[in-house]
Amino acid sequence: MTTESSELYPVTRIARVREAVAASGLDALLLTPGPDLRYVCGYDAHALERLTCLVVPAAGEAFMMVPRLELPAAQASPAGRTGVEFVPWDETDDPYAVVAKRLGTVGAVGLADRMWAMQSLRFREALPGAEQALAGRVLRELRMRKSPAEAAALRAAGAAIDAVHELVPSLLRAGRTERQVGRDIADAIMNAGHATIDFVIVGSGPNSASPHHELSDRVIQPGDPVVVDIGGTMPSGYCSDSTRNYVVGEPGKEYLAYFEVLRRAQEVACEFVKPGVTCEAVDAAAREVIADAGYGEYFIHRTGHGIGLESHEEPYIVAGNTELMAPGFAFSIEPGIYLPGRHGARIEDIVICGESGGERLNLTTRDLVVVG
Ligand code: ZN
Ligand code: ZN
Ligand code: ZN
Repeated sequence: MTTESSELYPVTRIARVREAVAASGLDALLLTPGPDLRYVCGYDAHALERLTCLVVPAAGEAFMMVPRLELPAAQASPAGRTGVEFVPWDETDDPYAVVAKRLGTVGAVGLADRMWAMQSLRFREALPGAEQALAGRVLRELRMRKSPAEAAALRAAGAAIDAVHELVPSLLRAGRTERQVGRDIADAIMNAGHATIDFVIVGSGPNSASPHHELSDRVIQPGDPVVVDIGGTMPSGYCSDSTRNYVVGEPGKEYLAYFEVLRRAQEVACEFVKPGVTCEAVDAAAREVIADAGYGEYFIHRTGHGIGLESHEEPYIVAGNTELMAPGFAFSIEPGIYLPGRHGARIEDIVICGESGGERLNLTTRDLVVVG
């Protein structure tokens, strides 16, 4: 076991979560494979139809239901050193009934936010008296405040995706398709140390005006602005996500004019970050700069999303979110301006809220990069 994983997934976390469950009024959390399970005990289990489930009761010891064939994998994971009891089940057992029997009478349970519907319905049958809620109600408070080890893992993810953006100018030129460039970027994401590629967006010319365009066979033309938004998951489990803007040759005047506005909006929002400001105020800080310049209607999405074990998680940087920023919050700041059918741009950094301000984890130039 590396020191890194024992710091990232401390063995004391299950006890802390149990206290939070007790304080929440829920009787237990039921955590199937996914980011909630990984956060609580470090086990990056495959999500399959056979039930793997960490049960964290408000009172009493946590235990994990594990298909017998996966017991060695569970024991070898960081969960193996937490002291949690593994309860292996055989192919003909009903693991849902075992959980129900062990829990006894319960009034309310919290289900992992990403539990499969087939599993949540099986739990509903097995625990007919229990109200079902989201485990996120309990875990969000913990997961939003990144520990120093989690912040370090996000910093490493930021450096890895920065290394990929440094390579983009050598991959991007007129005559190549978005898909060709995207394949090279995908290789670079893996070579930079990620365990998986989460997304590769190469939006050239008019495609740059579509925020979630991924890749197409469009041939990149001279004069095209290109939005490159890329991210992956590191072996630690923590994610990267960064957007930069490139132009092949000479950019147009109008594009340059709003790119400067966008550049300033992203800067202002990053500088606005500090403990005690609301998430919606950070969104408003970016939006105001863009609206004042007359491009308000072209900024069609929220300013950002939290990031950690998921590339999109709480807190969301959006109007209506009055959550107060606190040290350890990690999220993207990614305003964009999109002229439909024509072109667009987005600048995105991951930011961690510190004691007195924000720290950006993506450090490559935010200026327009001219290539080819
Ligand atoms: Zn997005
Ligand atoms: Zn993002
Ligand atoms: Zn992104």
